[in-house]
Amino acid sequence: MRTAEQSSIHIGEILCVGTELLLGQITNTNASWLARQLTLLGISSYYQTVVGDNPDRMRQAMRVAADRSDLIVITGGLGPTADDLTMAIAAEVAGQPLIEHAPSRAAIADFFQRLNRTNITENNWKQAMMPRDGLIMPNNNGTAPGAIIEFEFNGRPKVMILLPGPPSEMTLMFQEAAAPYLEKRTSTRFRHHFVRLIGIGESAAETQLKDLIDRQENPTLAPYASEGEVMFRVTQLVHSDAELDNTAELIEEIKSRMGEYIYEIGTRSMPAVVKDLLNERHLTISFAESCTAGLVSSTFGELPGVSNVFKGALVAYDNDVKINQLHVDSASLEQFGAVSEAVASAMATGCRDVFKTDYAVAVTGIAGPEGGTPEKPVGLVYLAVAYEGGFSVRKIQIPGNRARVRNVSALNAFDLVRKTLLAREDGQHQS
Ligand code: ATP
Ligand code: MG
Repeated sequence: MRTAEQSSIHIGEILCVGTELLLGQITNTNASWLARQLTLLGISSYYQTVVGDNPDRMRQAMRVAADRSDLIVITGGLGPTADDLTMAIAAEVAGQPLIEHAPSRAAIADFFQRLNRTNITENNWKQAMMPRDGLIMPNNNGTAPGAIIEFEFNGRPKVMILLPGPPSEMTLMFQEAAAPYLEKRTSTRFRHHFVRLIGIGESAAETQLKDLIDRQENPTLAPYASEGEVMFRVTQLVHSDAELDNTAELIEEIKSRMGEYIYEIGTRSMPAVVKDLLNERHLTISFAESCTAGLVSSTFGELPGVSNVFKGALVAYDNDVKINQLHVDSASLEQFGAVSEAVASAMATGCRDVFKTDYAVAVTGIAGPEGGTPEKPVGLVYLAVAYEGGFSVRKIQIPGNRARVRNVSALNAFDLVRKTLLAREDGQHQS
């Protein structure tokens, strides 16, 4: 039975329940994940709230949210323990009694049976108590089911969507049950295109596109945070899937201003772009990694189909490994140090010989926090790409902590392959 009329949902907000969120013991990743989903569904969001496991404050937070938004997406507090109160309070706010939902009770019994656990404690059955008119969402990753509650608040139709706290359960339930429901209840969609740039800083890029970012027309242009690269999102608001894409003109304008830095208009990451470039040309690659210690290889290995182009890699952390496995000259290690143009290029050339690939990339740098000197500070990284008859080298200085230095090194290693490959095709051989 449905109590509320089926109007369109325009404004939604996210309410995350959990004292551990308030104490900073866990990061509220549910809110950011859900915020992105609402945006993709064309639902505007003006508030996000966190509330502890306290019935009065939870009730108040739900009422405040119901007063100002069409939709409230709530996570956490659906479990079996005494502090898991969300379903009961939500039912109360919606003016519905809790009644036992037989299929949910059966699903909980089934879940425990699959785990071979027979001692189901009494409090587990509480998770099958559902608001009378709720649409129940099964939990295919845990025990607590979720619910979609349509109700009236101050004379207006509202929807509450209750999801479990653990992210693996929450995201699956949202995708399987909540998103299909919301798609039927929304009339707008956002269509996104991503423009990805490398070799230019974020503020420089934003300055060059400022007028396009500031004009609030459809489609809109917005900068998008990303490590070691710059991303812009072109967003078109549409009212049906049939509506034509009107983003071409804006994308052309960005290309005309920033073309030299753009490596992708679409959704591919830098490693994926490199994989495709190599694949299309039937070329192979290998890696010799010092400071990234396998990060370049493992990032590449995440891509499906990479085996067509990726032959192997060597982590050459210690100088002895650089000498014995990659045939780096011990004299040049002594003279220039491991973090140098000479050693980077020798590592790449040696790697190419070992793996017999068309391209080989080497990374050597100072990831920190220790090991920096005035001449070679933390964040100094040399990258080299070897190919038949030559190599190219890039020296970069990466600000930030160890993780950032390693991530940005890996990103630049791929970019160096991309640039070298394209430059060689243009006939501008470098050595
Ligand atoms: P459970 O059955 O596990 O008790 P629950 O629906 O009652 O699930 P909570 O007890 O509120 O959810 O949270 C369980 C766990 O889920 C938390 O300890 C935390 O690890 C994770 N979690 C909860 N809320 C969030 C959130 N907003 N962001 C990220 N993780 C969260
Ligand atoms: Mg809980």
